[in-house]
Amino acid sequence: MTARIIDGKLVAQALRARVAEHVATLPFRPGLVVVLVGDDPASTVYVKSKDRAAAAAGIAARTIRLPAETTEEALITQIARLNADPAVDGILVQLPLPSHIASQTIVETIDPQKDVDGFHPLNVGRLAMGQPALVPCTPAGVMKLLADAHIELEGTRALVLGRSTIVGRPMASLLLGANVTVTMAHSRTRDLAAECRRADVIVAAAGRPRLVRGDWIAPGATVIDVGINRLNDGSLAGDVAFDEAIGHAGAITPVPGGVGPMTIACLLENTVTAALHRR
Ligand code: NAD
Repeated sequence: MTARIIDGKLVAQALRARVAEHVATLPFRPGLVVVLVGDDPASTVYVKSKDRAAAAAGIAARTIRLPAETTEEALITQIARLNADPAVDGILVQLPLPSHIASQTIVETIDPQKDVDGFHPLNVGRLAMGQPALVPCTPAGVMKLLADAHIELEGTRALVLGRSTIVGRPMASLLLGANVTVTMAHSRTRDLAAECRRADVIVAAAGRPRLVRGDWIAPGATVIDVGINRLNDGSLAGDVAFDEAIGHAGAITPVPGGVGPMTIACLLENTVTAALHRR
């Protein structure tokens, strides 16, 4: 068996085009502000691509760059200003923040209606309760990839590998909402291989290169690889040994070109959703 490759670039392109079409019909331009504190090189790259993608979709995007020494109080004041600005529909504070700033405090300062990352406890809670919420972009993107690939989810067993608030936990809530029987695995899970072998769908978000081996995958299972790991030689690897997995899975996402492109596309969609709700 050779797995079908799920092309995240194509699905993301189509979603971005749909968002742009939708924005073009609106009587206003949705506004997105990305706040970047410090000059972490990876964050700087992400923020630039978010800016570019938003502009291409017709969203009024701007980035506020603050020095690494910015105090927590100053950042809170900045966010309060954005909360009060009627032209701003979405606020995203790029993580990680410098260590002297408490990320959770900052996340909780963002108006939940403008929380396009879906990290505010109100949105986290609503999602956990199965209520409408602004949903974190990466797991939202995974659900869209599964839908686009026509993967039947209802009644199936999924293994979510990783329990972070950004990926694993919201991923499990979304799958549960799709009537999936969800198992969550993490660094203390006793027999990860056995847990994987039971799954019809594996979503790997552990941040460990090639952790999931080919023979851990049930024949025909769907494998979504969220992991993005930079190897010593500069190349990128997912959390799944792709070359092995392709001989076992029914469908699989590559790294890069799988989940990655979906995250920004979902951010654009969240910005439009936030704008429509608030206005
Ligand atoms: P994290 O470090 O916050 O969480 C990792 C989780 O994996 C933890 O819950 C931990 O318990 C679990 N884990 C770690 N090692 C394990 C092991 N050996 N066995 C079982 N479980 C283990 O990471 P995160 O922010 O959730 O990100 C996970 C990965 O996804 C990273 O590679 C990150 O770069 C990537 N990521 C990609 C996107 C995207 O847009 N595609 C977005 C966010 C994160």
